[in-house]
Amino acid sequence: MRTITHIDRMQKVSDDLKKEGKTIGFVPTMGFIHEGHLSLIDIANKNADVTVASLFVNPKQFTPTEDYRCYPRNLARDKKLLKKRGCSIFFYPDVDAMYSKYFKTEVYVRNLSKLLCGVRRKTHFKGVTTVVAKLFNILKPDIAVFGQKDAQQVIILKRMVEDLNFDVKIVIGPIIREDDGLAMSSRNIYLKKKEREEASVIFKSLKEAEKMIHDGERNASRIKKRMRRMISTKKSAAIDYIRIVETKELRSVNEINGEILIAVACFFGKARLIDNIIINL
Ligand code: AMP
Repeated sequence: MRTITHIDRMQKVSDDLKKEGKTIGFVPTMGFIHEGHLSLIDIANKNADVTVASLFVNPKQFTPTEDYRCYPRNLARDKKLLKKRGCSIFFYPDVDAMYSKYFKTEVYVRNLSKLLCGVRRKTHFKGVTTVVAKLFNILKPDIAVFGQKDAQQVIILKRMVEDLNFDVKIVIGPIIREDDGLAMSSRNIYLKKKEREEASVIFKSLKEAEKMIHDGERNASRIKKRMRRMISTKKSAAIDYIRIVETKELRSVNEINGEILIAVACFFGKARLIDNIIINL
């Protein structure tokens, strides 16, 4: 696996690959690699000739009170895992190179970026869309692979790609979970023992919602109430939101119908965890 740190070098390597007729599959990450990230590498490997993974802890997607400084990092381990999984190029740009002191341009997907996670994390999605737009321009990937774990991110990025005519196909990988159902996340490292045990209730509440719908329940309020009650039995849980929305505009639904997203954000100690399930009736 080749490591590239300079932006102009990465652009040149991408251009050369294209000239050779090779397709590029891209997996952007913030590192502290786990099986969720690696499953996206598998998808890129299957769908493109060359897989590029980036590691960039993007300061612009952290709000001022969040964990940018102490976000978990382990470069050597990340590189080893990515290499072992068949990633060909590791792009690891510098913050100052990505955002020069004159940097002024932002990409913002209106409305969608304000909802769900955007209520608490007001500038988060603007940071995500800005950095992903930059990375797309640097790498010019044929496909870019993102995880369903960040369901709102996927919806926003698809909107950006369509609105701004990026010539890239977005591919979505399923949520990879621990044995007890907890969605894998770099932030799970923050969980203390009891919090870790209790955190699996998020997935259990989503499964309960799915079962209720399967059994015929169509009232969104009743489903959210049951989920809230389940999660609240855990002492270390502090619910941020439980929302049931349609998947185009992320508007709340009262009645379960068509394709809906059930999304949860919940604090366990200092870790803010998110998870979701898509149901298609
Ligand atoms: P991150 O490093 O957290 O920014 O995540 C990088 C990519 O990995 C994003 O597309 C995430 O949605 C995806 N991802 C993170 N956790 C998981 C997971 N448990 N399963 C599948 N994809 C994931």
